[in-house]
Amino acid sequence: MQKIDLLNGGYVGFVEAWGSDERIIEAARMSTGKGFEGWEKDEKLLAYLYNNKHSTPFEMAGMVIEVKAPIFVFREWHRHRTQSYNEMSARYIPLPDENYIPSIERLMLGANTATSNKQAQGNGQVLTPEDAQVWLDCIIESYQTAQSVYETGIALGIPKELARLPVPVARYSRMRASANLRNWLAFLTLRTATAAQWEIRQYADAVGQLIAENFPHTWALFEKEQAHG
Ligand SMILES: Cc1cc2nc3c(=O)[nH]c(=O)nc-3n(C[C@H](O)[C@H](O)[C@H](O)COP(=O)(O)OP(=O)(O)OC[C@H]3O[C@@H](n4cnc5c(N)ncnc54)[C@H](O)[C@@H]3O)c2cc1C
Repeated sequence: MQKIDLLNGGYVGFVEAWGSDERIIEAARMSTGKGFEGWEKDEKLLAYLYNNKHSTPFEMAGMVIEVKAPIFVFREWHRHRTQSYNEMSARYIPLPDENYIPSIERLMLGANTATSNKQAQGNGQVLTPEDAQVWLDCIIESYQTAQSVYETGIALGIPKELARLPVPVARYSRMRASANLRNWLAFLTLRTATAAQWEIRQYADAVGQLIAENFPHTWALFEKEQAHG
């Protein structure tokens, strides 16, 4: 599987794509009975469909990906109801002891500095790299404690579905996600924006890379739209 590595242990993997830019044109041309007539002519039609929100032809293509991300990223991701998901289950298998550890650089970026999202900021105190490192040491210790309580529970015979209670939202999980192209682009509009949390933005950018590879003509229209707001 083609994988794009993200954070300190996550990835977006390409499973498969269906349809193509050409199939989108073919679907739109069902109205007149003509098919794809070549990009020289049909580039204009694709742009017309896209810019005028004739959306259903863009539902004739799509992509399935595999994602390994921290649980808190999945919480944001799963709000997107038009994707289909299957995720590994901590009820049935113990979750591997892998947790997201942000880099010092990431911590120093702050929250959504490109926007005025005050809610997401800290308490106003200026964070130093030294304090960031102290805090990182603390969370690594707390992950170790949580893992020890988790493993003790499993060893004692506590059901896995309850033994997982101390597992942090930083724990990596895995899922497959499928959506049609229209809905992938809606996801990317929201999750590549600077208002989105940095972590999910890394994943959204990787999804965008795969969309660009598989649907280059539609991707060019999406990029143009994003650039012009
Ligand atoms: C920067 C950011 C901050 C956020 N902050 C919060 C927060 O603080 N709290 C919080 O709870 N959520 C938050 N969210 C999540 C947000 O409210 C949406 O749930 C999420 O972005 C999914 O968007 P969506 O509903 O458009 O996507 P999807 O569920 O994929 O839906 C796609 C489109 O389908 C249509 N649709 C789907 N279901 C329905 C329906 N039931 N009724 C009508 N139309 C429907 C809509 O047109 C929708 O735009 C945040 C999202 C972002 C990007």
